[in-house]
Amino acid sequence: MEKALNEERFKDIEENYKNIMFNISEAAIKSGRRPEDVRLMGVTKTVESIYINHALSLGIDLIGENRVQEFLGKRDELNLGGVEKHLIGHLQTNKVKQIVGEVDMIDSVDSLKIAKEIGKVSCNKGIVTDILIEINIGDEDSKFGFDPSELTERVCEISEIDGIKVRGLMAIPPICDDNEKNHKFFSNMYRMFLDIGAKKLDNVNMDILSMGMSGDYRNAIEEGSTMVRVGSALFGKRVY
Ligand SMILES: *Cc1c(COP(=O)(O)O)cnc(C)c1O
Repeated sequence: MEKALNEERFKDIEENYKNIMFNISEAAIKSGRRPEDVRLMGVTKTVESIYINHALSLGIDLIGENRVQEFLGKRDELNLGGVEKHLIGHLQTNKVKQIVGEVDMIDSVDSLKIAKEIGKVSCNKGIVTDILIEINIGDEDSKFGFDPSELTERVCEISEIDGIKVRGLMAIPPICDDNEKNHKFFSNMYRMFLDIGAKKLDNVNMDILSMGMSGDYRNAIEEGSTMVRVGSALFGKRVY
């Protein structure tokens, strides 16, 4: 019985993966971009290891986890050879020691304080940690991230911290049914991405713009996203 359920979900994941790759290509081409310039991240939070491994076997080479504990708890069961791992959820200062060096990138740097802590721990471990700066693009109280108005100043400050390297920006726009508004959040992000990149700050490589999730990754790609973070459209609806 269990086996039959697994098989069914494996097939769903295969089908979903094919559809997502097709949609990514289509959205890229529609906006005059190359499909290979957009990377798909499989968001694996709450997903059991057998399903994650199935997705990895299909060719997914980048995963994102939200929680330090969850990631550390299940990674030994994952076939992570050649797979890039990112932390994409809000990080608490007291968890920094556990995660630095265990993932390839921390995408959710949302305060100067956390950036400094990541830098400090990285220096102690003798490594440099790649990070993305999270922007609260919709100015929502419920969301983490820097205010767009303070972005340039903060990126300058963060770029001076030893032990980290800024690789780009990340954002989660407000949930909204209005397609045009959704596009607008993404195009605003793209403009900031270009503006900061043009400043050519030391220690800053603006090469990743992570935006777009299951419901809006096509819009995000049309507005310049280079990395889409897809969870439920790939693995199915999260049950908890
Ligand atoms: C959960 C999550 C996602 C994926 O969300 P879906 O809507 O399931 O695709 C993407 N980014 C972050 C930061 C998340 O927490």
